[in-house]
Amino acid sequence: MLKLDFHPAGRHFLQIPGPSPVPDRILRAMSFPTIDHRGPEFGALGLQVLDGIKKIFKTEQPVVIYPASGTGAWEAALTNVLSAGDHVLMYETGHFATLWKKMAEALGLQPEFLGEPGIEGWRRGVQADRIEERLRRDSAHQIKAVCVVHNETSTGVTSNIAAVRQAIDAAGHPALLLVDTISGLASADYRHDEWGVDVTVSGSQKGLMLPPGISFNAVSKKALAASKQATLPKAFWAWGEIIEMNATGYWPYTPSTNLLYGLSEALDMILGEGLDNVFARHERLASACRAAVNAWGLEIQCADPSVYSPVLTGVMMPSGFDADTIRKTIYENFNMSLGTGLGKMKGGMFRIGHLGEANELTLMATLAGCEMGLKLADVALADSGVVAAMANLTEQKKNPVLKVA
Ligand SMILES: *Cc1c(COP(=O)(O)O)cnc(C)c1O
Repeated sequence: MLKLDFHPAGRHFLQIPGPSPVPDRILRAMSFPTIDHRGPEFGALGLQVLDGIKKIFKTEQPVVIYPASGTGAWEAALTNVLSAGDHVLMYETGHFATLWKKMAEALGLQPEFLGEPGIEGWRRGVQADRIEERLRRDSAHQIKAVCVVHNETSTGVTSNIAAVRQAIDAAGHPALLLVDTISGLASADYRHDEWGVDVTVSGSQKGLMLPPGISFNAVSKKALAASKQATLPKAFWAWGEIIEMNATGYWPYTPSTNLLYGLSEALDMILGEGLDNVFARHERLASACRAAVNAWGLEIQCADPSVYSPVLTGVMMPSGFDADTIRKTIYENFNMSLGTGLGKMKGGMFRIGHLGEANELTLMATLAGCEMGLKLADVALADSGVVAAMANLTEQKKNPVLKVA
């Protein structure tokens, strides 16, 4: 076991926006003995999870499951459908969008990065009209793909994927649409087929409540056709053989058997609660979290209320305060981890995750830990965020249709 000179009582509060806490049901499911991945039981498990995961992506098309982190599934998306030197249009919404662009460069693609300078672009979602305008100017159709992040985990800002699809269609442009919803899937509304997404990238350790270690590509017919022409080198990531073998519930190599047990359990939990209820719960908790931040008098990083993330909330620090010092105070005093500021936001903000198995009372405890930590760090708070969040949650329970900002 990990040896730390730190012996806190009770459960650790893992309130980072992924990995999210893994429910006991999933941990128990994963503790079953590993079976023969070529044996009869495995095929049944494989078919079950491959079918169930389609419901989460809202797709009738294949979903490829990789034994890899989300970063692997990013690479899979790019290498399956693109060729060396291809021009791709990406959009700077935050740190994860930036990392995906760096990967595109490393793979020999030519990414063009749309967005606002400074941190402005890190406070709002993708502006679909800018994508439309850029695609209209590309009359030679040199741009082969548009890549956007659905839920920017570094900031707490979502993007309107249906609007991006409409922008591509309005420009009459044949580019593929590639979307990262690594932290959005199973927490925020997502519709692979209806939104006409060609490749959706996701991962296990955020809304799906699993440990890190598996990731996904949902693949449209158009993307599958593109993969037959694309020439970037791909071997491990190549969809073809995996999709072929998945037809009987198997993989060409040893899959992450125990994580697939966990996935099976997660699907039972999520589909049992009902996807719409899962989304409503995330919206409810996010609303209460924002009520707390507003009451504290601190600034929410997302500057556009129409794209607030239901998954996490970015809290900006007043000048003179280092968010990582406050996170450390909270960790040491209350055994809680909050998300650090990434990239351009290092030290300037912390992130509160309210995803996965989060509920009203875990959120309240989280906000209490934040409030006490902020006070210990001598941040001047306008009012009690805990009291405001309780009032918000009570109101939402009284009148569930009421939309509380
Ligand atoms: C977590 C995350 C990633 C990276 O996934 P890893 O599993 O850490 O490789 C990429 N994009 C987004 C939006 C994420 O939230």
